[in-house]
Amino acid sequence: MSLITRAEWHAKKPTSEYTRLESTKGVKIHYTGGKVPADLTESANHDKCGDLVRDIQKMHMSGGRGETYIDIGYSMVCCPHRYTFMGRGPHALPAANGAGLNSGHYAVLALVGSSGLTEPNDDLLHALVDAIEHLREHGDAGNEVKGHRDGFATSCPGDPLYDWVRRGAERP
Ligand SMILES: [Zn+2]
Ligand SMILES: [Zn+2]
Repeated sequence: MSLITRAEWHAKKPTSEYTRLESTKGVKIHYTGGKVPADLTESANHDKCGDLVRDIQKMHMSGGRGETYIDIGYSMVCCPHRYTFMGRGPHALPAANGAGLNSGHYAVLALVGSSGLTEPNDDLLHALVDAIEHLREHGDAGNEVKGHRDGFATSCPGDPLYDWVRRGAERP
């Protein structure tokens, strides 16, 4: 997998220690829920992926989701250039699945949104499987792959990604 470490994406340090997770039932897939530039998939635009990840971390840590998070809420973030950005990572409780649902599944964000870029390309799907395999290998994630909308009232991760999840979340 092509992993981008927190140092490489210039992540801010978490403001307190993560709650440790021994294992999970699996992984839940998310999208940004906002606008992602339609041309993000172009190879020259990978720099913008780092900007998006830093913006999301900033938003989560400044209370943009109603609550001030200690870090970006996601375990990992995948981009349409087949890169995976380290978020909270394996064995850390995420903060993206909804209250009471975070210890059950790691949370992986795909950089697609509800407008602009809404359909995952093949490289993004490969990156998602890379992230899922990494969380199984290093974080004792179980075999479930679900969407944020499973068990929580949200449109996330959007219909195109949710259809892929329902088909078995396999490599294209
Ligand atoms: Zn979500
Ligand atoms: Zn990218």
